[in-house]
Amino acid sequence: MSRPYDLVVIGAGSGGLEAGWNAAALHHKKVAVIDVQMKHGPPYFSALGGTCVNVGCVPKKLMVTGAMYKDTIRESAGFGWNVGSATPDWKTLIAAKNKAVGDINDSYDGMFKDTEGLSFHMGWGSIKDQHTVVVRESESADSKVLEELQADHILIATGSWPQRLGIPGDELCISSNEAFYLENAPKRVLCVGGGYISVEFAGIFNGYKPEGGQVTLCYRGDTILRGFDLEIRKALTKQLEANGINVLTKENPAKITKNSDGSKHVVFESGKEDDFDEVMLAIGRVPRSQTLQLDKVGVEVAKNGAVKVDKYSHTNVANIHAIGDVTDRVMLTPVAINEGASLVETVFGKEKRATDHSKIACAVFSIPPIGTCGMIEEDAAKKYEKVAVYESKFTPLMHNISGSKYKQFIVRVVTNHDDGEVLGVHMLGDSAPEIIQSVGICMKMNAKIADFYNTIGVHPTSAEELCSLRTPAYYYVKGNRVEKLESNL
Ligand code: FAD
Ligand code: NDP
Repeated sequence: MSRPYDLVVIGAGSGGLEAGWNAAALHHKKVAVIDVQMKHGPPYFSALGGTCVNVGCVPKKLMVTGAMYKDTIRESAGFGWNVGSATPDWKTLIAAKNKAVGDINDSYDGMFKDTEGLSFHMGWGSIKDQHTVVVRESESADSKVLEELQADHILIATGSWPQRLGIPGDELCISSNEAFYLENAPKRVLCVGGGYISVEFAGIFNGYKPEGGQVTLCYRGDTILRGFDLEIRKALTKQLEANGINVLTKENPAKITKNSDGSKHVVFESGKEDDFDEVMLAIGRVPRSQTLQLDKVGVEVAKNGAVKVDKYSHTNVANIHAIGDVTDRVMLTPVAINEGASLVETVFGKEKRATDHSKIACAVFSIPPIGTCGMIEEDAAKKYEKVAVYESKFTPLMHNISGSKYKQFIVRVVTNHDDGEVLGVHMLGDSAPEIIQSVGICMKMNAKIADFYNTIGVHPTSAEELCSLRTPAYYYVKGNRVEKLESNL
């Protein structure tokens, strides 16, 4: 039976747009892509372009870049600049950010107009049957049906949504969604969580806080950024504190109430209490599948809402597929894009293609930032008989005169000591996100540590340190850390 569409994509985010465009432009298929809104801005926190463009990577990077000028302006004095006093203006930042995001929304709108076979459908998508997607006016299952779209294949690319804390007063907290549209930079702000979003926003708020302001980050565990290199986690904590951020560990809010002036009173699980103008929850994101009515066709979903897929992004229902955050594999934009491209190649191309989720280079845009790719040493030590850890810590040349001598650059490399394969590279410091991308390519080519030290460095840079790591700092043998290897090992 011939259906009007080859593919209907629910969600015009990083993964959905890649899949939709590839299917239409490269494979000449008829494709409908659904999203809730064309343009960014509340009440819809995502729209054409998805989380990344509207309330994620793009606005975040612009705002972190803005916050970094705080140090740059101060440090410029050491280089002979007399800039007088400089104060940040949050409203200007948000307006400029909104304009940049709006331009990207418009460019995607143009993409739909310019790509034959590709159409955009505004509304909330849900599944009616194995080949039909309903587009409604709102998220509610009772809302007005705008249209029904029939397709051979359906792709779920609906992303994720901020997790709530579920404590009394939860509703008084904002998430990163609202943080992107605050009218003013908060004076006293609490960032809850020790992951990507909390540390990145702590840097943004710290850069733009008004005179006398204070940024506090609270994390329920010992050391922020669980899963990252431990030395780098500790060093970042010190640098956040040196930047004036109050980092509370083993602290989590237990109850929040509103003061008469509108500020929030937070009682922590430890019993400690404090007042904040804003409390931002950044405690993970939940796959967004709840209103898709997947049960109608029996698509399997995990407890947290993640759509279950195989390595080709197929669900258990033959013609229904899912990619990106909604599958809860690795919640990163380039991963969603790669999964979208692979899925389209598998369904409409010449051969099946699975996204390779190993050795993914990524960054935390904290101030200072982290660049990382591959395994941390604890994981490598569980998998390999002998592991070597190389390390370099130094103060970049510029900080000899910048006045920020506490700003160290750290490079740590984890290898399989038997064959020298580089298993993990972890960096902290300015440019680490830029450097790690090229390192990721080398690692995908199975580079050995000898390839690193046989490469001549670029001088004077921080990256050249990667080419001078000849002697391990320590090892792991059968999972146990040792400072030196016995000669017979
Ligand atoms: P999304 O981009 O979220 O797109 C899903 C789309 O589906 C949305 O537009 C939504 O409106 C739409 N949708 C949902 N339900 C429906 C429905 N029923 N009907 C119609 N449409 C629907 N990743 C990085 O790699 N680097 C970063 O620096 C980075 N920074 C981030 C910062 C923040 C604050 C956040 C929140 C995330 C960040 N990420 C970053 C993660 C990245 O944004 C996501 O991994 C990525 O956007 C996932 O893409 P996706 O296509 O799976 O979903
Ligand atoms: P993360 O998973 O990075 O961090 C969540 C944090 O919240 C962790 O510290 C976690 O602690 C803590 N947490 C979880 N549940 C609770 C709870 N009930 N109470 C208190 N604390 C809790 O999530 P984010 O929200 O920061 O970001 C979501 C995802 O978006 C990221 O994982 C990443 O994939 C993506 N992202 C990527 C960025 C980038 O590439 N630069 C930037 C921003 C987001 P614990 O560690 O103890 O579990």
